[in-house]
Amino acid sequence: MGQKVLELHKITKVYTMGDAQVYALKGVDLEISAGEMVSIMGPSGCGKSTLLHIAGCLDKPTSGMVRIGGKDVTAMDDNQLARIRNRHIGFIFQTFNLLPHENALNNVIVPIQYSGLSRKQGMEAAKRALQAVGLGDRMYHRPNELSGGQRQRVAIARAIVNEPSIILADEPTGSLDWQSSREVMGILQRLNGQGRTIVIVTHDREIARYARRIVELRDGKVIADRKIDSVVVPDRELERAGKDVRVRPGLQVCVRCSYANRPRARFCSNCGFSLRVTPEQSSTIIRRMLGMTIPCPACGTNNRPFAKFCINCGEPMENALKAG
Ligand code: ADP
Ligand code: MG
Repeated sequence: MGQKVLELHKITKVYTMGDAQVYALKGVDLEISAGEMVSIMGPSGCGKSTLLHIAGCLDKPTSGMVRIGGKDVTAMDDNQLARIRNRHIGFIFQTFNLLPHENALNNVIVPIQYSGLSRKQGMEAAKRALQAVGLGDRMYHRPNELSGGQRQRVAIARAIVNEPSIILADEPTGSLDWQSSREVMGILQRLNGQGRTIVIVTHDREIARYARRIVELRDGKVIADRKIDSVVVPDRELERAGKDVRVRPGLQVCVRCSYANRPRARFCSNCGFSLRVTPEQSSTIIRRMLGMTIPCPACGTNNRPFAKFCINCGEPMENALKAG
């Protein structure tokens, strides 16, 4: 396991409201290592957001110690904390928190303005971040011209633009439909695969299972902290079928029947389908197997399943398989 990037030690948080005191956190210990993806789960009001805000230096604990990248941040002043946040931490919120009158690019560039990069370097970093979340063609759209899932992807791009080592997400799928939630979790898994540490707060058990470690919070305390050996993997093809698959890392999911195969198998041991085809190629192969017509990639004319050349334009139909 990697170095510890986030350490919370005996954290308490008490909110005072008039005469009343709310004990939001009652002594939380939590250590997160570099490269981990962790879900913090628990019912509404149990202290999840409070914990995430303290971990991300957006708020200070009443008592206890916070270390980020090995550095004790508990006694730092607001300016020092702002610098730590800007350099090390990316935030994603349930309601996206985008500037409504600015386009995607200008939204993503916001954190760069405090990082010392030039406007031109910032623009390039922002474009790269938007491309990384699949929004290369939506850079000049404003939030109200984007779907909920796309807005959250803009927010993810903003969170990663400064290349922070830690990404903290508070109910990132809480405002999204089922499909967009899976897309967003897929992106977070991919970012984690690239080495970023990711902490997701959620009250949704299904969403929590996209992470390999689940910490359960109840009434301001950690009541469980466990590793799971089967994470949920969102796969576009399977999403269309309306289900998730749980696979152990390394197993290959058959694009035709969803069976999880051994890591080095070449053909699905359930249905015999090739495991070397991409989901895009599979639709052409499946159409062939079912005897359905196949559209020519060049002109779109429907051809017999095993036609070698298109009856309309004469292009080789093998290209249909290559193009998907
Ligand atoms: P969760 O994110 O799990 O729903 P929160 O961390 O938002 O929980 O809240 C934990 C508890 O602290 C709740 O009882 C909530 O009402 C209280 N709380 C949160 N923020 C404040 C605040 N700024 N002032 C007073 N009480 C708060
Ligand atoms: Mg909350």
